[in-house]
Amino acid sequence: MNEKVRCLIIGSGPAGYTAAIYASRANLSPVLYEGMQPGGQLTTTTEVENFPGYPSGVTGPEMMEDLKKQAERFGADIRFGMATAADLSAAPYKITIDNEKVIEAETVIIATGADAKYLGLPDEKKYSGSGVSACATCDGFFYRNRKVAVVGGGDTAAEEALYLSNIAEKVYMIIRKDYMRASKIMQERVFANPKIEILFEHETEGLTGDKVVQGVNLVKRRGKPDEEKVHYEIDGFFLAIGHKPNSDIFKDYLETDDVGYIKVVPGTPRTSIPGVFASGDVADPLYRQAVTAAATGCMAAIEAERYLTEKGL
Ligand code: NDP
Repeated sequence: MNEKVRCLIIGSGPAGYTAAIYASRANLSPVLYEGMQPGGQLTTTTEVENFPGYPSGVTGPEMMEDLKKQAERFGADIRFGMATAADLSAAPYKITIDNEKVIEAETVIIATGADAKYLGLPDEKKYSGSGVSACATCDGFFYRNRKVAVVGGGDTAAEEALYLSNIAEKVYMIIRKDYMRASKIMQERVFANPKIEILFEHETEGLTGDKVVQGVNLVKRRGKPDEEKVHYEIDGFFLAIGHKPNSDIFKDYLETDDVGYIKVVPGTPRTSIPGVFASGDVADPLYRQAVTAAATGCMAAIEAERYLTEKGL
């Protein structure tokens, strides 16, 4: 028989755990499934220095463990397991866990996050946490007066390059085409910034360095008669080639943008289906911060509580 719950939370990043804290304190008896990567993206970072309330910083895994404990303290039922299918055609909504168990939920909070895309080079893994990052806001601070490179030519890459230019001594933008995809205004800002050097028609072949990143090997104008291999000394290598929101199993029911971010009513975590809420990075192409994810997780739990009360459930 299917298990019935009042509030099902899918995902265990800052959004999911914060939703669990609020939902359990509101007596919704939430059940949270942690997903593939318990703790979410923050478990792959080292120091988190920008989450309010940690004056000395905290490691990503430690912070996620604290959030989990805080949710458990109020009775949230936190379980291993991954949502593998969803039927949101009618309430109660049916979510399949690990391809077998089905949970029937009156409210669903989707907090499945987004994954940064990587180039797929072995060196990205080799230097992970030692010079390779997919978040300038998180890790840029460590490159004060150093040289860094940002891969990508979209709005995120432009934004990351501009952010890093306030910290680093030099920022290279590695762009595979001979033009930038970023919006005009962002391009203008990048072009006008004396610290940013744009390397058009460059592709990354690998990274160099003893334990930490010290340089990047690029190929310029690949496949053209004047193809050339070049090397730049850098200390940090930032990926900004897009994110993939983890929304695939909900796509038949919920509206998403072209990239897959779940669309919500602006300023709220409400989706197009009553009782189904989306919080954190899966619905946020713009900010993608732990603190913004936590905030929308809180909002989703408050919405779930109001929805259940209105329905008398
Ligand atoms: P985009 O998909 O817009 O851009 C990705 C960039 O990465 C492109 O330049 C792309 O190159 C490059 N790229 C992708 N794969 C590779 C690869 N394997 N090797 C090298 N380069 C690669 O993603 P963004 O994250 O920049 O933006 C996502 C959405 O969010 C956009 O709609 C954007 O406008 C929006 N956004 C808005 C912001 C704002 O308004 N402030 C801030 C940030 C994002 P190519 O062009 O060759 O495909």
